[in-house]
Amino acid sequence: MEKILRILLDDVKNGYRLSEDEALDLFRVRDRHVWEISTAADEIREQRVGNAVTYVRNQNINVTNLCVNSCGFCGFSKKSGDDEIYFHDKSEIQKKASLAKEREVSEICTVSGLHPDFDLGSYCDVYRWIHEAAPGIHLHACNPMEVAYAARKSKVSTQEVLDAMRDAGLGSMCGTAAEILVEDIRKKICAQKISTEEWVRIIREAHKMGIQTTATIMYGHCESEEDVVQHLAILRKIQDETGGFTEFVPLSFIHMNTPLFRQKLARAGATGREDLLMVAVARLFLDNFRNIQVSWVKEGIKLAQLGLLAGANDLGGTMFEESISKGAGATNTDYLDPVEMQRVAEDIGRTLRRRTTLYEMI
Ligand code: SF4
Repeated sequence: MEKILRILLDDVKNGYRLSEDEALDLFRVRDRHVWEISTAADEIREQRVGNAVTYVRNQNINVTNLCVNSCGFCGFSKKSGDDEIYFHDKSEIQKKASLAKEREVSEICTVSGLHPDFDLGSYCDVYRWIHEAAPGIHLHACNPMEVAYAARKSKVSTQEVLDAMRDAGLGSMCGTAAEILVEDIRKKICAQKISTEEWVRIIREAHKMGIQTTATIMYGHCESEEDVVQHLAILRKIQDETGGFTEFVPLSFIHMNTPLFRQKLARAGATGREDLLMVAVARLFLDNFRNIQVSWVKEGIKLAQLGLLAGANDLGGTMFEESISKGAGATNTDYLDPVEMQRVAEDIGRTLRRRTTLYEMI
């Protein structure tokens, strides 16, 4: 095993493209060889993007937590009649956007449930309000589920939705709502969400229009290693065709307050081994991605730092306001000071660099 693994990792370092079966073998490693895989991924990270640890100064604006869907892994969404429902109107959204501008963020990210009364016009209004209050800020918003929802509610095509959103100021799109791109798993964890086929179609459509997106996976619930590899293979194929993904962001399942965990349909999140291997094998398998992010919100800053030694090169955003992971039970999710990011980067001999959403260095 040891020798075969070493040969395989050497081949990958020399440009060999990992097959799905080989990636599966790597995800199944349970012993000290996790470190060898991580080290190989770290070397490839260095070859591909150098030694900077990047971050973006960003702020979320949560528009509403009311949502027509009921995803089993979600601790954020509320239904009419629940306590603690919120829906921010124009003045509140603009107040938050102005505050983001004062904080000198370069990116605002909107996060929202699928409000029962939303249509395409509602999304475009929010984007315009944000640009009015915070001109020049990059708006990273909307995911394929929201695009499909706006299209259905306004009875237009998804292409028309993307056109209208771009006219309203959408800068790039979130690659969330991907979860696991395997139908059997989607039926268990998010049956009302768009299908894998629809997610892929909308992402391709956005990329072809020049709208770049992130790519994500949500893992650590009820998926198998085969499902993870199938998901990564879909992302790699899209990236071969379009080159439109800015980065890959693994999102470790936060289980505490979720229906899926309460009903014993999911495990209690990924282990540290799984978190590290997700970053490392993604770096090895996704040979057409420059950037792999570790989410300090999902993993905590200490494990995120180890992810930076296992193939990741980006720490994500400062945040300032975060509700999704907090709703699911995560703590310390609101803000990470770049001073702390710098300490984490320098501690492993790397340099912190601020970037834009689309990875231009500031
Ligand atoms: S994950 Fe998104 S779509 Fe699903 S219930 Fe939560 S807010 Fe709604």
